Amino acid sequence: MSSNPPPPKPSRPNLANSSPRRRNNSEQALPAKPYELIPFPKQPPCLKRPAGHDKYLPDRLHGTLFLTLTVQTALHVSTGVVVMGSDIGNNRIPLIKTMVQNPDQKLTIQGSSLKGCVRSVYEAVTRSCICKTKAKKLQIPDKYSECTPEPKKGRLDVCPACQIFGALNWQGLIEFQDAVCQSTGFATGFMPSLYRPRPDQRRAYFRQGKVAGRKFYYHTIRAIDRGQNQGIPVQTAAKEYIFTTALHFKNLTAEELGTLFIVLGQDPQYPIALKVGGGKPIGMGTMTVQVTAIDCIKGQNLRDRYVAYQSPDSTQLTGDVLQQLMQQHIQTAHASAFVEKPQLDALLEVLRYPTDREPPTGMY
Ligand SMILES: [Zn+2]
Repeated sequence: MSSNPPPPKPSRPNLANSSPRRRNNSEQALPAKPYELIPFPKQPPCLKRPAGHDKYLPDRLHGTLFLTLTVQTALHVSTGVVVMGSDIGNNRIPLIKTMVQNPDQKLTIQGSSLKGCVRSVYEAVTRSCICKTKAKKLQIPDKYSECTPEPKKGRLDVCPACQIFGALNWQGLIEFQDAVCQSTGFATGFMPSLYRPRPDQRRAYFRQGKVAGRKFYYHTIRAIDRGQNQGIPVQTAAKEYIFTTALHFKNLTAEELGTLFIVLGQDPQYPIALKVGGGKPIGMGTMTVQVTAIDCIKGQNLRDRYVAYQSPDSTQLTGDVLQQLMQQHIQTAHASAFVEKPQLDALLEVLRYPTDREPPTGMY
């Protein structure tokens, strides 16, 4: 068996030649960053006891949202598995990083990936903790460390994001199903070799030794196909591929559901798109969301459903009625001050879609 030589390390452009560089000022020599840090709200996270799963509360909202997700720039959600191209029907590619496909050969985005992406936006626009971070404990701003409820000790209070998306020891109130592509097949793309984050080189990551904000990548008009480095072949969903999924929710307040609609880009004042999967720095993973239907039940109706012999008429709403319902909840969320406006305004500048922003050139 012959051993292949290790792949060449990606070569970095010579910074000294490409821009004027002063000693002790490495920040200036770095190219424009493809992301922004959204600062934390003025007030620290507000912790509350979550609604619980033991019963459908009569004053809360329960149901299902039906979503259509449209790929705007090439999308790759990695399985972590690299296979031979011939194994997935492409003999020209020796090795390729795969996405999940269902038994019908349709690309699939795991519900957990979607949940993570929606959660990060929800966290940023509410008074929520910093949930998943590589920052060290001492670098987390005061009162922002991850919620850790301990039900056995009677400590249940969690931040707004943890209440509905869950935390350690707390299951959360919404559940994402896997999103399945409407068509069979896939595209093959390339993901350039991305560098690890280098917080040490970007002082703006920290303010007085603490993390300065939450990181979000800009949407761009397209993804870079091959960078200056050849990159790695990846299985992708190409532009205009359409995925459908459903999201079940229970015991939400009107402002929680309204905030979820805002995060999903349903507020005309805040036209934002999701950023899903890998290759975010080079413009990959932009998806727009359409809510196609909602099955929303209030506590009393729910009771009727179980005590009647005949099942009630469908409670599914579509079209104008659906739009009215969503806008009503969105207004409730804005009016309640549950949504942090400065953070939402800052996020809009990063996640606005469509955009005329070009993908970054040079180093990523
Ligand atoms: Zn939390």
